[in-house]
Amino acid sequence: MAASTQAKRTKDPDPKVGGDLEQSVRDWGGKILGLMDAAGAPSLFSRKGLYGTLMEWAMRDEQFKTQLFRFVDVLPTLNSSAEISRHLKEYLDNDQVNLSPALRVALKATSVAGGLFGGGIKSQVTGMARMFMIGSEEKEIVATLRKLHEQGIAFTVDILGEAVVSEPEADQYAQRYLDLMNMLARETGRWGPPCRSDVTPRGEIPRLNVSIKISALYSQIHPADPDTAIEKLSARLRPILRRARELGAFINFDMESYVLKNLTLRLFKSVFSEPEFADGPACGLAMQAYLKDCEADLRDAVSWARARKRRIAVRLVKGAYWDYETIVAQQKGWPIPVFSRKKETDACFERLSLYLLENDDVVNAAFGTHNVRSIAHALAQASRLRVHHRNFEFQMLYGMADSIKSALLQLDCRVREYTPVGELLPGMAYLVRRLLENTSNEGFLANKFAKGASREELLCSPLELASPTPAVAVKNTAIHRHAASTGFVNEPPTDFTIPKEREKVRVAIQKLRGALGQRYPLTINNKSVQTSEWTASLSPANQKEVIGYAGKATIGEAEAALAAARAAQSKWARVPVEERAALLNRLADLLRREKPGLTAIEILEAGKSWTEADGDVAESIDFCNFYAAEMRALAVPQQTQWVPGESNVQHWSPRGVGVVIAPWNFPLAILTGMMSAAVVAGNAVVIKPSEQTPVIAARLMELSMEAGLPAGVVNLLTGRGSEIGAHLVAHPQIDFVAFTGSREVGLKIWETAGRTPPGQANLKKVVCEMGGKNCLIVDSDADMDEAVVGALQSAFGYQGQKCSALSRLVVLADNHEKFVERLVAATSSLCVGPAEQPGNIIGPVIDREAQQRILGMIETGRKEATLVWQGRAPEGADACYVPPTIFTDVKPGCRIFREEIFGPVLTITRAGDFDEALALANDSEFALSGGCYSRSPVNIERARNELVCGNLYINRPITGAIVGRQPFGGFKMSGGGTKAGGREYLQHFLFPRVVTENCMRRGFAPTDDGS
Ligand SMILES: Cc1cc2nc3c(=O)[nH]c(=O)nc-3n(C[C@H](O)[C@H](O)[C@H](O)COP(=O)(O)OP(=O)(O)OC[C@H]3O[C@@H](n4cnc5c(N)ncnc54)[C@H](O)[C@@H]3O)c2cc1C
Repeated sequence: MAASTQAKRTKDPDPKVGGDLEQSVRDWGGKILGLMDAAGAPSLFSRKGLYGTLMEWAMRDEQFKTQLFRFVDVLPTLNSSAEISRHLKEYLDNDQVNLSPALRVALKATSVAGGLFGGGIKSQVTGMARMFMIGSEEKEIVATLRKLHEQGIAFTVDILGEAVVSEPEADQYAQRYLDLMNMLARETGRWGPPCRSDVTPRGEIPRLNVSIKISALYSQIHPADPDTAIEKLSARLRPILRRARELGAFINFDMESYVLKNLTLRLFKSVFSEPEFADGPACGLAMQAYLKDCEADLRDAVSWARARKRRIAVRLVKGAYWDYETIVAQQKGWPIPVFSRKKETDACFERLSLYLLENDDVVNAAFGTHNVRSIAHALAQASRLRVHHRNFEFQMLYGMADSIKSALLQLDCRVREYTPVGELLPGMAYLVRRLLENTSNEGFLANKFAKGASREELLCSPLELASPTPAVAVKNTAIHRHAASTGFVNEPPTDFTIPKEREKVRVAIQKLRGALGQRYPLTINNKSVQTSEWTASLSPANQKEVIGYAGKATIGEAEAALAAARAAQSKWARVPVEERAALLNRLADLLRREKPGLTAIEILEAGKSWTEADGDVAESIDFCNFYAAEMRALAVPQQTQWVPGESNVQHWSPRGVGVVIAPWNFPLAILTGMMSAAVVAGNAVVIKPSEQTPVIAARLMELSMEAGLPAGVVNLLTGRGSEIGAHLVAHPQIDFVAFTGSREVGLKIWETAGRTPPGQANLKKVVCEMGGKNCLIVDSDADMDEAVVGALQSAFGYQGQKCSALSRLVVLADNHEKFVERLVAATSSLCVGPAEQPGNIIGPVIDREAQQRILGMIETGRKEATLVWQGRAPEGADACYVPPTIFTDVKPGCRIFREEIFGPVLTITRAGDFDEALALANDSEFALSGGCYSRSPVNIERARNELVCGNLYINRPITGAIVGRQPFGGFKMSGGGTKAGGREYLQHFLFPRVVTENCMRRGFAPTDDGS
């Protein structure tokens, strides 16, 4: 290409300076497309060969595309032909997938010639990956880059892989960047004169250009704690920047998913503001035009550069994570950060292209696009503004749009290729992004090459076409339809990437610190009741710090609370359901109003991390709104069966008066959940929060009263569960007990409630949620990065003190060594310390007693199994830390395999095959939550059917159930099989009643069936 390019290079590429912009865009576009057509279709879209056929099918059939990309994703981890063949069949030889008869026949043949075909397909897919990424061999990298250089194309290199899971991995990445830079500096130094694309009217620019992903440089990036991330990232970046300056290299920050966007921008500004780097190395960053924030961010970056009189480069791209961002935002209930219509992204790209060119004095613009319209627009605007066409450059990906690169070179433009280097395995996410891009119905390349769109269509202005994007419209409609039918929308978690949200919690913690040690009396009949004795609620991080003093109720006060509830209940039961439900909605609003303050209490009183505490408050809001919506639905009388002359209708009526006994681990959500369900159903309750977390319970009581709860409907008793709790459970005036807590206490309650003392009006109903010994299987083909992170989060989130926490990890033998090694490295990277510090993922356990019990179990574990790793916990006699601990070689007979530990202790057991893994997982008295990481559709199906637990999670962490979405609760010794946050939950607090009326009078009856 080089020779012909040189020959055809135009000196003055655009005769049309100024004039009609759209006409100029069309002229530029026409020139580029003309040159491309002359060069013929790129091999990428040629129908010949495996790649072309697969891409063509993928574009025709969404299901096939999903299955194919999932297969491509798992393929590099499969080591034998038999495994490849099995997966190929599982993914593609499936009736749900629309396959042509020819492919079905080919797939059937794999059972016969599985080995042969399996081996072949792997090399074919490896070849496909190599179309988009260079290998890790120095020779290969050098040869490819040198060839580009000779063609007049500049390069930027990127090391494949993103989002490291541990600090050793991040160190390795940083070192690899240094090694790569050193190697390339040596090599490019031998290349003689610069390639044309590295020469601008302002002079020569660095030929060594490196693109960096910040997620590869720190494993503990936490949205709530950007300060620590900036500190750690800067520390790993500095040696790279120093070396870049010495070598005269250019450093670009790539832009990744939205959660990292603010951090990337802040890091860029902070590290390049350091005096040491104020004059170099040359730097730039990518900006994503699909983001609604992009324009504001770009203006800010340009102002920063201008204020520092520092020229920066901006690579304007549309953005590679569109599907991901859309899905994640919808799952979390956050505003979708990307435009929903492709044309909006295109229009934004054009607006920002203009802006970059207008700021040519301080910005080196780089347009990262394969879209000829977008390119032509930049060229047309540059002509209009009289910005020299070599002041800016076009960037394209390795293996994509070669004919556009060639056309631009012929038009004397500067072209840079983005070349990812490295191993296939860490490159799979990159490959799948490229495949998605190439098969996207919205994509320019597919439209041009696969669908043969006309030149007019390809060059049409984004402002002219405004067709909605159906995929997004459909997804949103489905979510809204669900919300409209239930009247319930989940409370979104707080987005801590937003500075003002972090500030709110910080201020709330400060405020709480100024008000520690207050007294929180009992509440009976909506009146404060002072007690003669008080119990201190101590901070788990510092047992000398008193969060507050809670009244210690006596039996007499328990009787008074019960009497108040009894007196209030019958009147409350007659309050219309709509009023009761509205009260819950009001309480939800108040909880939302107080979210930062409540979060702060949980952080200090329960030792929850910021995110966990915030999640608990959000869940309490959800419970109120969910049960309100459910009660409204239940309140509509249901006709059981229609026969002429008779009406048969089922109603629900409240059970009466109950006691709610809540735990400390979800100190607001579980208490609110059990209380709100009981109350909205027309019952009155005495609530007995945990002795460890009375302050948050007192706030709930205050907010309930503020919401308008009538006197006596909810009465707060704090004190010893073994005294007042036990007294109430046995009381004949109690109609139901709602309990969440340990198995030991749960079973006692179950037994006590089963006795019927004289004077008891109803058989007591017990809603009993107890513990778990939850298991996660990691299959031999599991995505390691995801499984490590998922296991960590499940085992050590809130120090393992969740009933859903992961306690037993069963790892298939093939993966065992590697997985354990990475898990240990990842766990050792977690920050341990007071929950108040938002970057600390592991905080203290709840109290001294828990600490001693867990440490005791660790001692037992040392005798029973192999202690493979134990972390370090902050020292200090006043804190209740337990170092995170991992045991391997754990046999099913061990105590640590069987008994609930409720702390940061993880056991790992090796399984020979998936059958054994399932048997191990099911070998427990508990059945609460469980999970499986696998990329085998057959094994996923087996887990779905055979893993015995109330909540099964596939390919995701096993904690974090969301109200209404993952109704939560287990069976066996984990509880009554009921689901909190599920549609049936309210029925525990209600009696069904059926009213039958004879509607016939003298042989005459209404003919209407009433429906
Ligand atoms: C050199 C280079 C470097 C890159 N670096 C980065 C980077 O650092 N970070 C990054 O995220 N990406 C990066 N990319 C990837 C880039 O974002 C995608 O390749 C690019 O978005 C494809 O856009 P296009 O202009 O080539 O094609 P087009 O076909 O014109 O646009 C496709 C793009 O439109 C957007 N889109 C698709 N559907 C919709 C919709 N319904 N609503 C709104 N928008 C939609 C998406 O961004 C999609 O990628 C880089 C690309 C290049 C060429």
